Amino acid sequence: MNQKIRVRFAPSPTGPLHIGGLRTALYNYLYAKKMGGDFILRIEDTDQKRFVKGAEDYIIEALSWCGINPSEGIGTLKGDFGPYKQSERSEIYKEYVAKLIESGFAYLAYDSAEELNEQREKNPNWKYDAQSRMHMKNTLSLSSDQVETLKKEPYVVRIKIPEERTFRFSDTIRGEVSIDSSTMDDKVIFKSDGLPTYHLANVVDDHLMQITDVIRGEEWLSSTPLHVFLYDCFGWTKPRFSHLPLLLKPTGKGKLSKRDGDKMGFPVFPLDWVDPNTADRSMGFKEQGYLPEALVNFLAFLGWNPGTEKELYSLEELCKDFSLQRVGKSGARFDIEKAKWFNGQHIKNIPPKEIVTYIQDKINHSLDQIQLEAIATLMKERVQFLDQIIEKGDFFFSAPEEFDEKTIRKKWKEDSPKIVSDLSAIFKKIEVFKAESLKAEFESYIAKHDIGFSKALIALRILITGKGSGPDLFKCMELIGKQESIERLQTKIPTAIAP
Ligand code: GLU
Repeated sequence: MNQKIRVRFAPSPTGPLHIGGLRTALYNYLYAKKMGGDFILRIEDTDQKRFVKGAEDYIIEALSWCGINPSEGIGTLKGDFGPYKQSERSEIYKEYVAKLIESGFAYLAYDSAEELNEQREKNPNWKYDAQSRMHMKNTLSLSSDQVETLKKEPYVVRIKIPEERTFRFSDTIRGEVSIDSSTMDDKVIFKSDGLPTYHLANVVDDHLMQITDVIRGEEWLSSTPLHVFLYDCFGWTKPRFSHLPLLLKPTGKGKLSKRDGDKMGFPVFPLDWVDPNTADRSMGFKEQGYLPEALVNFLAFLGWNPGTEKELYSLEELCKDFSLQRVGKSGARFDIEKAKWFNGQHIKNIPPKEIVTYIQDKINHSLDQIQLEAIATLMKERVQFLDQIIEKGDFFFSAPEEFDEKTIRKKWKEDSPKIVSDLSAIFKKIEVFKAESLKAEFESYIAKHDIGFSKALIALRILITGKGSGPDLFKCMELIGKQESIERLQTKIPTAIAP
């Protein structure tokens, strides 16, 4: 029988969840859904010094806004493998660290911070390893009498990395990876505060929670040999590893950092975040007007592609098409223009009724539901953000007060006033003021007088909308209504900008 797939997203609450973390959560979620497995949310908070107030709630809120819902884990979620917060599991780790010490895979070290610094000052490349450990203060180098005198002193537990060993593991995305133990050090796995470090807690929990696949960012690749060694020490079966490609800056050079967004004027966090210590605010995709569907679609393509031309995906469709085999190794460039494009595409899918609710909250007007829905239908095809519906479609709500100068200079011709006044007289006679009749009258007028379509249309458009481009003008006029449209056509272009 095939084992049930179980994956986890295991953030540390050290600040807001950034876009790279959110992508890791998304890929875990998609893989679990695709495989009919479980997606677990675990909080890795053993580093109390880096704990940031509010970060855990932020993570939960951000995932839920995106629709990336865990099936098991912290908070109100249920599960048989809890607690799902590492700070509540300290007794469990004590038991496992004791096993490692007992079997000789780990040892107690009493070196003070000063003593360690002294070594590093002498040699910046110094590390605690097979070469140096016997010259340090630990249960391997000291006699039992010496250890006895240190009994009450604070200590850490270090893993004893074997000399001359090659650690191998296979990574779904990177293939075979091998690392020589001489490049590794005797990492601290248990701290003097009675809590494990990330490495031990992560491996113990992945094992106890029956995680089958570890899917995480590339920055953890270098820790994996140590994790592999820990699995071996305990005699446990290893999960499959998949290390996701880095997210690169918009230039394509260098890793995207948490600070890049605010520096370059785009969000790198799903939601706004206010730093509890400095009160600095970082912008979020949500508050910048992105739809969660668009953000998810954008993130899915930062490292994965379906191998087809299809780019627009709902979360459900992603669950069906996603596969780890189609995740690339090379860094994925974070291109905010692409995120905007996805947003525009997903806005087209919003039912007009919902857009109307959005408009109602933002603007005073005298239009009815049917008119508003028609405006929403016309405008949603042409915007990347919902607020642009109001910005670019302002002429639906009131007569333009400003006229696009560039268009006037280029396209307002000597005979434009005559064309407008002729057409205005014709339109006045139309009884049922509908787009089709307006268009038919317009076409017969330009044909009769041999006037270019766009020359005549732009003259009308400028007076009706104030702009050089926009949705179907006759539909706009129908919505604006006969009286108002005719009034607008009587407007004089301000002499200051008329050619
Ligand atoms: N707590 C780690 C983090 O903050 C988890 C890494 C992992 O998934 O193993 O990303």
